[in-house]
Amino acid sequence: MSSSGFTSELRADVAIVGGGLSGLTMAHALAVGGISVAVVDREDPVRAAQADFDGRTTALARACQRMYEALGFWDMMEAAACPILDIRVSDGGSRLFLHYDHEDVGDGPMGFIVENSAIREALMDKLGDRGITHVAPANVAAVVADQGGVSVDLSDGRQIRAMLAIGADGKFSPTREAAGIRSTRLGYGQSAVVCNVAHELPHNNVAHERFLPSGPLALLPLNGGCSSVVWSERDAVARALADMDEQTFNSELTHRFGDTLGALSLVGRRWCYPLSMSHAERYVGDRLALIADAAHAIHPIAGQGLNLGLRDIAVLAELLIEARGLGLDLGSAGLLQRYQRARRFDVTTMVASMDLLTRLFSNDVPALRAARRLGLGAVQRMPRLKKLFMRHAMGTLGELPSLLRGERPGTG
Ligand SMILES: Cc1cc2nc3c(=O)[nH]c(=O)nc-3n(C[C@H](O)[C@H](O)[C@H](O)COP(=O)(O)OP(=O)(O)OC[C@H]3O[C@@H](n4cnc5c(N)ncnc54)[C@H](O)[C@@H]3O)c2cc1C
Repeated sequence: MSSSGFTSELRADVAIVGGGLSGLTMAHALAVGGISVAVVDREDPVRAAQADFDGRTTALARACQRMYEALGFWDMMEAAACPILDIRVSDGGSRLFLHYDHEDVGDGPMGFIVENSAIREALMDKLGDRGITHVAPANVAAVVADQGGVSVDLSDGRQIRAMLAIGADGKFSPTREAAGIRSTRLGYGQSAVVCNVAHELPHNNVAHERFLPSGPLALLPLNGGCSSVVWSERDAVARALADMDEQTFNSELTHRFGDTLGALSLVGRRWCYPLSMSHAERYVGDRLALIADAAHAIHPIAGQGLNLGLRDIAVLAELLIEARGLGLDLGSAGLLQRYQRARRFDVTTMVASMDLLTRLFSNDVPALRAARRLGLGAVQRMPRLKKLFMRHAMGTLGELPSLLRGERPGTG
């Protein structure tokens, strides 16, 4: 890894605020296109590398898996990636379910379940090889644009000068707030309990989603035979579930999920993540682009949050690499507007549909329950519509930027 050991000022083409999964991926997508990058994160990298830092897994859509392949990471992530062959969605205890089978849309898996720690490890591993300057732990105090560039000021007095700053600093993005970009925020009163479980019966690479009245419960297949649980519940109930003794938790979970996989038993610890939606009114400012959760954060009901952010990255990287090839200003208003225009429809549609889905399914109103079950049954009987939904979830619909087609920008 390139060290953070610069004394007072560092110059880079692009400065990224936030080195979570999206900030790190953005850094690599630019670096492979010949753009120099500094990425700043306030988290201590030693702590971030510890196994209990992030208990989540990501359901990585097929197109995003191709993107990691194009960026040279897939061989490092593959061992930790479990292919998703089928998805089964059901409403509450109903025996009827919607069944997505990978064979309906080709012969490969629909996506992969990968532990976030494995994605982070791979992204951190190649920072040095790619000449990316990783500045951490360091807090960004201000981002100030002027005619000639942008200054990213760190709390310790150091400064990074760049042509463009990218805000990848998460759902509560201080960069977005400081730039005066308003965002719509909605709470669901839900938190997700996340953990891994063992089960009596094999998962057979099937991802399960049960819509329960107080929030969705997903069991996602992992390599090695266990599954990752994402159990959304009302805040207080989720906290109680995360804290209760293991035996009671196991029987509660088995009771809620049903007998599809036999008895479920906790492996390792539990995490609890508060859930909310946010959507920035703009994704750009003066020499500033917002990506991923800094621009839009959604409920994990369909496992699409990071995938949506990776699509921002693929589009922005392509625009910046093209501009660099033409010798243009990487922070120009015209380029940033193109980025915003390219992302607006996809993001708005996804934010609205995930919000609707969460509200529609997280309740026990009899009329809605009946409508939901009818809806699931109807989609199950409409193969063309079902395929459309599957391709959407796989991220393979429509005109895709090169990284999502599995190619590096400028090489296709
Ligand atoms: C329970 C759960 C399950 C999920 N499952 C899925 C899934 O299956 N599939 C999927 O696609 N998505 C999923 N998501 C969504 C996904 O996890 C997020 O979209 C993704 O982690 C966001 O990454 P990010 O890098 O944008 O933000 P973050 O992970 O929040 O990273 C932001 C970074 O910015 C840094 N930072 C903030 N402020 C500063 C500052 N001032 N100076 C320096 N650094 C700063 C922070 O330290 C942090 O490292 C899930 C989310 C949850 C909660």
